[in-house]
Amino acid sequence: SVPLSFFGGIGGASKCGVLIKGSNYLEALAKAETVVFDKTGTLTKGSFAVTRCYPQGISGERLLELAARAEKDSSHPISRSIVKAYGKDTERFGVTDVQEIAGHGISVSLDGKKVLAGNAKLMRSKNIPFQPVTEAGTVVYVAEDGKYRGAVLIEDEIKDDAAFAVRELKKAGVRKTVMLTGDAKAVGEKVAEKLGLDLAYTELLPADKVEHMERLLEETSEKGRLAFVGDGINDAPVLARADIGIAMGGLGSDAAIEAADIVIMTDEPSKIAAAIGISRKTLRIVR
Ligand code: ADP
Ligand code: MG
Repeated sequence: SVPLSFFGGIGGASKCGVLIKGSNYLEALAKAETVVFDKTGTLTKGSFAVTRCYPQGISGERLLELAARAEKDSSHPISRSIVKAYGKDTERFGVTDVQEIAGHGISVSLDGKKVLAGNAKLMRSKNIPFQPVTEAGTVVYVAEDGKYRGAVLIEDEIKDDAAFAVRELKKAGVRKTVMLTGDAKAVGEKVAEKLGLDLAYTELLPADKVEHMERLLEETSEKGRLAFVGDGINDAPVLARADIGIAMGGLGSDAAIEAADIVIMTDEPSKIAAAIGISRKTLRIVR
């Protein structure tokens, strides 16, 4: 049976915006030793602003239009931001054969032409010669029928409470804070350094994230001590493998919110340490 005060703990957490889906997760939180984060949408706001366009043989406007029409139906934070930056209504017709390639980008048929929008990995895998952008930021390269059309530089912002969130976890006794991201090395490492994370692994495909996760699980002192926090976009398999799967309630995908053990309704990563605090208090009352 579940001690009554556990309900108090779950209730207390829900009052501060953390939905804990069972007393076992409340207990697990108290012992969390490793906390692994996704970057985009979890530590950063996930609302990228377009900061520069590098068109090649076409206008900047046309470059953004190509990218926006290709990205129109994707729920990836990068896609949403590009569509928003384009501003105009994207033409609904003429887009077929939409293929999202996890960790790479998107491929569509647009007015009968094959349009690609994604990172350097995508361009390389499709043998598109492109001009690498050296500025630090997330880069979306665009190609049309095998021809490189340019790149869009986008930048995300670190969430206001992200650095505080990492400090609080350390204070709460969490030994290892880690970031797993599919984004570029320069971007990921900059974020990790600013936040004081212990480890950062970048340019990961969803399968690479799973591999890192398995190793991190093995490295914990005991089963049940690893928490993963993500939004479920390209990290759902990792979220499912974690001892404690935590999803962002606002930015997260519906599937992630459903699959998670704990949901942070306010999308604030600092709520994890707050929930750990509540769980410890609750357990002390119980014992
Ligand atoms: P993260 O781990 O930071 O959440 P993802 O695994 O979702 O990142 O994506 C990794 C990288 O793949 C992105 O940084 C981007 O370069 C590229 N990418 C993924 N999906 C898209 C998309 N829809 N449009 C453009 N680029 C994308
Ligand atoms: Mg993600």
